[in-house]
Amino acid sequence: MIEALAQYAEETSGCTRCPLSATRTQVVFGSGDAAAELMFVGEAPGFHEDQQGVPFVGQAGKLLETLLQGIGLSRDEVYVANVLKCRPPGNRDPQPEEIEACESHLFHQIELIRPALVATLGNFATKLLSGRPTGITRVHGVPQQVTLGGNEVTLYPLYHPAAALYTRSMLSVLEEDFARIPELLGRRSAAPADAAPEPELERQLEPEPPRSLEPAVQLGLF
Ligand code: URA
Repeated sequence: MIEALAQYAEETSGCTRCPLSATRTQVVFGSGDAAAELMFVGEAPGFHEDQQGVPFVGQAGKLLETLLQGIGLSRDEVYVANVLKCRPPGNRDPQPEEIEACESHLFHQIELIRPALVATLGNFATKLLSGRPTGITRVHGVPQQVTLGGNEVTLYPLYHPAAALYTRSMLSVLEEDFARIPELLGRRSAAPADAAPEPELERQLEPEPPRSLEPAVQLGLF
């Protein structure tokens, strides 16, 4: 399936299914292990992702990497993709027509990768893949059994890492939810759930971020 995924990435690189094709620099298909047991699905590429063609390479991506390290995993061992493969101008929310036009790319990716666990990051991925309108604040950290790409998959909704860049309490929740991933993969957990945060994580959070959640709400992260 590794070759099939590479071939599908190639096919997708010229996608013109929605108007985002006119404003993107390039399609951001996804990256990581094409045979990963664990797949992360975010919202849409931002500025840096659009420039580099790789998902989660900005600040939120750094946090994602640190959280992965905290559970003994690296980016190379997982697969990372987004609901939308092209950057919405100004990083605005994905529009329903864009999601509709793009969603079969994601479903086909999941079909080819066949992950056991799909961790959705934020509202857009969670609502699309759960097929339910319930928001992330209510469903984060609660695994659900779903059928995706013709396979039984455990869906694991998580707050979007960008949300944790805005508020410390969100980071604690995200860390706690992340700590359950090894168990959901049938592995022994890498570290106790209540372990002190990694120094690197602390460093990323300095100085204290603004109290307002407004930007995160605008991003549709809650
Ligand atoms: N946020 C996302 O949802 N996806 C990215 O690729 C980067 C930031």
